[in-house]
Amino acid sequence: MAQTGPQSPGEEQTQRGVAPKESDFSCLRDLPLPLKEQLDSLGFSRALSRLIESERRFRDLFEQGPVAYHELDQEGIVRWVNQAECELLGVEAGAMLGRPIFEFVSRGEPSESREAFQRKLSGQQALDPFPRDHIRSDGRHLTLEIHEVLIRNAQGEATGMRSVMLDLTRRKEIEEALREGEEVLRSVCASSLDALVMIDGGGRAILWNPAAERMFGYTAAEMLGQPIHDLLAPAALRQRFQESFPAFQKTGKGAAIGTMRELTARRKDGSEFPIDLSLAAVQKGAEWQAVGVIRDMTGRKRAEEALRESQESYRRVVENAPEAIFVATQGRFRYLNPAALRLFGATSASELLDKLVLESVHPDSRAAVAEGIRQVEEFGVDLLPWRQQYLKLDGTVLDIEGFAVPFLYEGKKGSLVFARDITERKRAEEDLRANEDLLSQSQGIGHLGSWDWRLQGDTSVMVWTPETYRLFGVSPETFALSVETFVTLIHPDDQASMQAWIRECLAGLGPPDLEFRVNLPDGSVRYINGRGHVVSQDAEGKTTRMVGVALDITERKLAEQALLRRTEELKRSNTELEQFAYVASHDLQEPLRMVSSYMQLLSRRYKGKLDSNADEFIAFAVDGAKRMQQLINDMLAFSRVATRGHEFEPVEADTALKQALSNLTAAIEESHANVTFDPLPVVSADSGQLTQLFQNLIGNAIKFRRLEPPRIHVSAERRAKEWVFSVRDNGIGIEPQHLERIFVIFQRLHTAAEFPGTGLGLAISKKIAERHGGHLWVTSEPGAGSVFYFSIPVQGQ
Ligand code: ADP
Repeated sequence: MAQTGPQSPGEEQTQRGVAPKESDFSCLRDLPLPLKEQLDSLGFSRALSRLIESERRFRDLFEQGPVAYHELDQEGIVRWVNQAECELLGVEAGAMLGRPIFEFVSRGEPSESREAFQRKLSGQQALDPFPRDHIRSDGRHLTLEIHEVLIRNAQGEATGMRSVMLDLTRRKEIEEALREGEEVLRSVCASSLDALVMIDGGGRAILWNPAAERMFGYTAAEMLGQPIHDLLAPAALRQRFQESFPAFQKTGKGAAIGTMRELTARRKDGSEFPIDLSLAAVQKGAEWQAVGVIRDMTGRKRAEEALRESQESYRRVVENAPEAIFVATQGRFRYLNPAALRLFGATSASELLDKLVLESVHPDSRAAVAEGIRQVEEFGVDLLPWRQQYLKLDGTVLDIEGFAVPFLYEGKKGSLVFARDITERKRAEEDLRANEDLLSQSQGIGHLGSWDWRLQGDTSVMVWTPETYRLFGVSPETFALSVETFVTLIHPDDQASMQAWIRECLAGLGPPDLEFRVNLPDGSVRYINGRGHVVSQDAEGKTTRMVGVALDITERKLAEQALLRRTEELKRSNTELEQFAYVASHDLQEPLRMVSSYMQLLSRRYKGKLDSNADEFIAFAVDGAKRMQQLINDMLAFSRVATRGHEFEPVEADTALKQALSNLTAAIEESHANVTFDPLPVVSADSGQLTQLFQNLIGNAIKFRRLEPPRIHVSAERRAKEWVFSVRDNGIGIEPQHLERIFVIFQRLHTAAEFPGTGLGLAISKKIAERHGGHLWVTSEPGAGSVFYFSIPVQGQ
């Protein structure tokens, strides 16, 4: 409770700040009775009671009242302060009483306030109410208005001051809010993109913002005070307005009030445009005014148009898409484009619309599709390419590849599905896989790998079949294939030739096959025959794709090498044999000649002089020696075919034949043989050996005759790159099983008694034919005759 004092400033204060009590006036009761009676008779006691009553009323008013109030003495010391002020300033009364007011309420320096106080007290400054900002100790800002009156004593001198403080804080806040609100309104009005328009009760414009100026083409100056509908409404609307306006004027009500309408408005230039108009009624006194917000809808209308057009074009795209597109909500078909209808074999949408999608799904795929639908529709998940089996309406199985995305259709969560029939593709893929498998298997069987090399700019991609990897001894999982790494697999000695070969291939030169070796991880070597082929080139003739094969020729290569080794061996042993035969026959000749000549001497000298047995024995020995001589001569001739032959030169085969016939004159005459021949070619040959060859064959034809005289014909024909000579006879012929044997050295089919000979003639002939790069062979019909053939390559081939 505020403690208040009854004292007026300037009065003696005994109990500062303590409320006056009834007992304070007890001195009056203690007056001497006669005086008391005298006073009573004058009515003083009554007056005093009224005074006390009045004083209490005012004191209560100030103490308990809502207005802040204090009293100051001449020094500005607070002598009295009420509860309202203590609460307003947030200070205890006890703290204020006896302290200068300037410590509690002052502007700037307390000394300034003190001086102003003194000026007022001395009458130098008027006591007009003044505002004061005050910051309470709790930080609250107050706006105060202070009203002051001077306290004067009986002499009229100012002895203090009474002040009432009004708290204007709240009012100031409201005023500020109002001002701000007005500013906001003004700036909204100025910056609004919508036209803000207000009309008074007469329909005349009283607000016309810049947006309205822009929208309609009228300035505010032109518009304000003008009947708005006459200017802005097209004729048709004007009439409607005129009909409804009088009612609005009276009641503030109308069909357009409080709603938003789509209307047409007219600009100053007469052009019309679509607007949205919202109207509100405002009462001003007795009059109803209207505020309108007008939005230019030209852009929106155009956008709506564009949206409609774009929706239309999307619809056309979907309708004409070659891909099947359908929409499902709640697991049922809701939309299918024509391609989707074709896919399912439907002739009209009604066959599928609102049917369960799962009914068109193959039983094997139903669980997966049902789960997919759930994922898309419930969880909004994109279902990226899946493959499932569906069913056409006629029950045919469809392999479908598609993807589904969440889609809102007619306000319901669903899925938009793009589907493609891959039945054919799947079959083709299976075929392709089977073909690849076949290729891989057959490449494995044939040890034939293949490769495909694409070069595009700086990129080079090489692909090998599984067999190729196997041939090169690497695995596709671990080997990083490129042209560079490929070369490292090749035997070091073959790498340079491989690189040269690759260059030639790339240059499109089509080099012959390349044989090269591959070092296998187990240390062995594999022989490969490589072949490359340019498939495509770019405009500058650079190779862009090459394919080729790699054939494992290790076995053949090893066989060839073994053969070569055997041939070398054979050649060496043949040479040794020839040398031996030569040496043997040559060295045997001398002692044999001695045996032979002494046997002949014995025969001449002692024939008929010894007994008959001796003559016979000597004859055997002479004959044996002769045969042996013949044998040795033939062996010598055989061994000389290779070693003592002459250089080849063009030889007229007739000449060689004629020479042979001349050598055989005796035999021909004796046997009455008839030898004929066709024109013969010129061949590159050793003429002596060719003569001998004819002589041997014709000699045999005469020797192995039947009883009738031999008929022999010699001819030659060209076959491809060689001349094939033939010597035909009508002799005894040869059994088929002997056709090979007769060419082997010493091999004969008859005894010397039947037909003389050494069995070397054909062996020598064969060797001669082979030395000339040809062959010798025979066809025969036993009892009818034989044909001996030999070939000699055509000159220069
Ligand atoms: P030779 O004439 O000394 O017996 P060859 O080597 O010339 O030795 O002949 C080998 C064998 O081939 C002959 O013993 C003979 O049996 C057979 N022969 C060769 N030429 C003829 C031919 N024109 N007709 C039938 N048999 C032949």
